[in-house]
Amino acid sequence: MPGNDRYAILFEPVQIGPVTAKNRFYQVPHCNGLGHLRPRAEAAMRGMKAAGGWAVVSTQETEIHPSSDLSPYPEQRIWDASDIPALRRMTEAVHEHGALAAIQLVHNGHHARNHLSRAPILGVRDMIGVASYPRQARAMDKADIRAFRGWHRAAALRAREAGFDIVYAYAAHNMTILQHFLSARMNDRTDEYGGSLENRARLLREVLEETREAVGDTCAVALRFAVDEMMGADGMQAHEEGRAVVEMLAGLPDLWDVNVSGWENDSVTSRFEPQDGYQIPYIEFVKQVTTRPVVATGRLNSPDLMVSLVRRGIVDFIGAARPSIADPFLPEKIRTGRIDEIRECIGCNVCVSCDSLTVPIRCTQNPTMGEEWRRGWHPERIAPADEPRAVLVIGGGPAGLECAMQLARRGYEVTLAEAESELGGRALKESRLHGLAAWRRVVDHRLFDLRQRANVRLFTDSRLTAADVAETGIADVFLATGAAWRRDGRGRSAMTPLDLDPALPVFTPDDVLDGRLPAPGPVMIFDDELGYLGGVLAEHLAVAGQRVIFVTSAAMVSPYTELTLEQSRVQRALIEAGVEIVTGHRLVSTSGQGALLHCVHSGRERHMACGAVLMVTERLRDVTLHEELQTMAGRFRTLTLIGDAAAPGLIADAVWDGHRAAREFDAGDGGGSFFRRELVLGEG
Ligand code: ADP
Ligand code: SF4
Repeated sequence: MPGNDRYAILFEPVQIGPVTAKNRFYQVPHCNGLGHLRPRAEAAMRGMKAAGGWAVVSTQETEIHPSSDLSPYPEQRIWDASDIPALRRMTEAVHEHGALAAIQLVHNGHHARNHLSRAPILGVRDMIGVASYPRQARAMDKADIRAFRGWHRAAALRAREAGFDIVYAYAAHNMTILQHFLSARMNDRTDEYGGSLENRARLLREVLEETREAVGDTCAVALRFAVDEMMGADGMQAHEEGRAVVEMLAGLPDLWDVNVSGWENDSVTSRFEPQDGYQIPYIEFVKQVTTRPVVATGRLNSPDLMVSLVRRGIVDFIGAARPSIADPFLPEKIRTGRIDEIRECIGCNVCVSCDSLTVPIRCTQNPTMGEEWRRGWHPERIAPADEPRAVLVIGGGPAGLECAMQLARRGYEVTLAEAESELGGRALKESRLHGLAAWRRVVDHRLFDLRQRANVRLFTDSRLTAADVAETGIADVFLATGAAWRRDGRGRSAMTPLDLDPALPVFTPDDVLDGRLPAPGPVMIFDDELGYLGGVLAEHLAVAGQRVIFVTSAAMVSPYTELTLEQSRVQRALIEAGVEIVTGHRLVSTSGQGALLHCVHSGRERHMACGAVLMVTERLRDVTLHEELQTMAGRFRTLTLIGDAAAPGLIADAVWDGHRAAREFDAGDGGGSFFRRELVLGEG
């Protein structure tokens, strides 16, 4: 092993029933917005993980039947034999690199809405379904249960035909019928499938036995099981029924893939759970109860933590969804001793948001995620420059840093100039806010790389003017000058500036990020952007002792954070920090004493006293320098605006845009062409 022996234990092969994983790196099932709608993209993305050294690469949840139809979400599908060719693309891509392919079969019970199939919704009991859609599930009768078992068995056989090595039964995330049957809270049946834990576990036992009988001679049978629902005595608890289930079924699956439930707990963001490996206290009992191999997750980024978990007998496999998204080559980097090059997940859940948005997965740290097939991007490779000329990047925020790093990897002579005394732009500044410390990894990863390179010159305290830029003599210039928050209140609710009395101080997020805080006294945050930042600032100021009134034009605090599975935690955090929350109101004007609000529904007026207003509304792109340079005809070969200066968005958008610009520069990778699409008719 070219790396060092310290990590050798992570590269030991491990047997899982009839198959053997070549090492301990296990990409657990994760959603990705590709699925049955984008099978080529899914295959290429999973294949990339296998190329990066993961010994097991799993699908996302794979619907076994039209009565478990999760439309419009593009999960995976194995309804019938016509799904096999698409799935086979993935298993072939995974096998090409010597990895095992796993499939997570699922029936979602009342969690499915069956919008496409219009099939009856089946549940453990009569119950209303999820989300605000008024359609109910009917309790499965004996015929339904028999049918379900048959569907699961048939899906397992199809999975084997598609080339999978590991076939899952799935009882986790509060999303699956097998977990719903286990749940004392949901299962009120009076037949042999309800009542005692043994009865509630009957269906799971039958499915595991039947999967083994169907495919167990050649495929391993895995169980994904949530040992704890993190709702105390109202749900499954790791040291009570969670443990009892593992004891009861200990040797039945070939592998235990254990986690906590629901999805918002399993994939909790770093904002609310900063500790990598946060699930360990819940799952550490499992290996004491079963002799079968165990895989667990919880943002396991650190190789030293991985080694300790294996040595301490807590897991056999290092499970990962998000760390494998942020760095598909994580195992390979550990194997070859390139620990410092690992792109660590920051726990922001931008990846998760894509599932709900039904668009291809993306990642703040890894801009190539989801782009493997449609743009041909590889996380570790980039086309070398034909002619390694000098390039100038202005602005050292996420867009500028990523662009500079990729241009340097291509071999260009890169000069990066940043106005401020530290590199990192908004990513660095936002990482200083309450709960966002892990976001600093966006900066650290790129700076570490840039500082290694002889072809990179980094300048801070260098606010360039047009004359300065011209003086460098560099003909290719990338402008990553960012954007500033508006102070005048214009935004979603107001198309023109608000009527603001100069007697009441107005702050912007930039003020807070630069350490300029409102004086003591109530500050009214007006969040009309509806992203994450308004809520973060409210919590940040409140925990620092400021009195905060949070006014939002939305019906809830920070609605964007529903996509990152955080919204409920955000609202709770603000309530607990003593923030006064006013939803459904927009700011109209201010006076020396406070603000006038209007109800967004009725228009009714409401006056609220405050000492200052903090506007979180809209951003102004900083394009002055770009405009000046554009007037200097003939001086520059290319002037490329990137990141927030091109279009304000998430840090993930800025990183991606900087990456794209560097790749496409000089017609490198796909220069200027759009991306391949998976067309319903014909080849994509
Ligand atoms: P993005 O998210 O697009 O990377 P940021 O706002 O995080 O944008 O970063 C933009 C960076 O550009 C800031 O750190 C800012 O100080 C810097 N900047 C803006 N104008 C200039 C300039 N004329 N010269 C050098 N740096 C600049
Ligand atoms: Fe981690 Fe964020 Fe990337 Fe998801 S998007 S893998 S949470 S860095």
